Amino acid sequence: MNERIAPSLLECVAPATSQVIGHVKIASPDEVRSAVERARAAQRGWGALPVATRVERLLAFREKLLEARDELAEALTTECGKPRQEALVTEVAPLAALIGHYGIHAADVLAPRTIPLRLLKHRRSRVHYEPRGVIGIISPWNFPLLIPFGDAFTALFAGNAVVIKPSEHAPLIALKVKELWDASGHDPDLLQIVPGRGDTGQALIESGVQKIVFTGGVETGRRVAASCGRALVECVLELGGKAPALVCEDANLELAARAITFAGFLNAGQACISVERVLAHEAIHDRLVERIVHHAQRLRLGGPEGIWDVGPLIFPQQLETVERLVNDAIERGATVRCGGKRAERTGDFFEPTVLTGCEPDMPVVQEEIFGPVVPILRVRDDEHALQIANSLPLGLNAYVFSKNPDRAQRLAARLEVGSVVINDVVTDYGSPEVPFGGVKNSGYGRVHGTEALRAMSSVKHVSSDRMPAVSALWYPYGERSEETVRRLVGSLFSRRTLLGRVLDRL
Ligand code: NDP
Repeated sequence: MNERIAPSLLECVAPATSQVIGHVKIASPDEVRSAVERARAAQRGWGALPVATRVERLLAFREKLLEARDELAEALTTECGKPRQEALVTEVAPLAALIGHYGIHAADVLAPRTIPLRLLKHRRSRVHYEPRGVIGIISPWNFPLLIPFGDAFTALFAGNAVVIKPSEHAPLIALKVKELWDASGHDPDLLQIVPGRGDTGQALIESGVQKIVFTGGVETGRRVAASCGRALVECVLELGGKAPALVCEDANLELAARAITFAGFLNAGQACISVERVLAHEAIHDRLVERIVHHAQRLRLGGPEGIWDVGPLIFPQQLETVERLVNDAIERGATVRCGGKRAERTGDFFEPTVLTGCEPDMPVVQEEIFGPVVPILRVRDDEHALQIANSLPLGLNAYVFSKNPDRAQRLAARLEVGSVVINDVVTDYGSPEVPFGGVKNSGYGRVHGTEALRAMSSVKHVSSDRMPAVSALWYPYGERSEETVRRLVGSLFSRRTLLGRVLDRL
């Protein structure tokens, strides 16, 4: 950050050229509060609309997004350095798919459900999914379109208003989508952006929102969870990952090598679902390494002009982290098979790097790298691979490569993560139909899928009478009624009694 610019402005820098590409005004705490209040007012009308009407309007907005896809891809390329094709495939397309998915399913998922009661047959229970109010979204810089707006559209389908605090390192794309939203005739207060740094995120948590969806690092996640706890605001935490790729000796090696290369270097390795540890069975280790190196060496660094495969890191500190982890691994005995250093060109570029001879206790194998680096470890068998894979406090997602579906499923069952992809990569976050999120320090709650849409709603249970009845359990208590209750409790819920067995089948 340039210290000469006003403290109330964010300076936006293109990572491929180190050029300043804009300044964005930071929202003050008062402005954040006022944005949330306006969002709350706008939500009342939006939340009262039938789901089908909300669906129509959001699907219409998807057309505007798609018409602007070149502009959006260009903006993502400039602000984050990602190749245009990647911006289209990993940001614009999955966002459009998510809107389409909820467009088809929101009415069903949000429809009231009748819940049969086993004992109280005279009652009817219905569960209703009502809008919560205003959802606050705090998002990172690595997928600054898909992550915040994926969560935002989920919230909007459920009838909420949204206020987004984008990353200070990538606020421009959020403002571009906001322009499209306002120009499309939607209520501007329903979807708002409050640019700023961490303190703006804090202000959003404390501004009276009904829920926070946070995506970011583990340490920031702890602070966000603590603030949400103080404000008694529910939160979803989508935190860091350190995805292992387990490659069995019976895997399709060419598929595994190409998939690992893609998921290792996609977005210059700056994805929470990047392959950050390859656990290669010793029988195929050398052949796998040879194929991954073959593909990695052909990746072209570049941007923002022409065609390239791997862009820069988002800012200089990220480059320093990657460099520190790689140099440390080399000092501890790892071998650089390709790359291994900063690229000799303007911008924050690191060469696509493959490291072998890595050990489980090396920081490059333990810490999130968030750069174009694929560390490879040699493992003896599946147990050894599982032991290393599960040894870290992070548990976001994992990959398994094997031609034996039963073996792959057995491994998947024992991996301590929120999602496992077999014989492919990154199709989990990219599929709006499936819930995504972590276990352990990778956070809690889920985005996407039925789970996320319902979780954007406030669940209300309404119990009504099917027939009038005075409960035998009401006052007054007496010795006979107590004895009856005593017997019933013993028989109703036990499999040893006929009554209990009948009830269990109802
Ligand atoms: P950070 O945790 O640094 O920041 C995330 C967001 O939180 C930013 O908007 C940031 O603002 C804001 N923020 C910072 N401090 C606070 C605070 N005290 N209170 C409220 N908000 C705050 O993450 P990065 O942006 O560096 O993103 C990288 C991380 O995100 C990686 O760990 C990655 O694994 C994780 N991630 C997880 C995903 C998942 O689905 N699980 C997906 C993608 C990324 P500012 O930018 O201004 O500092």
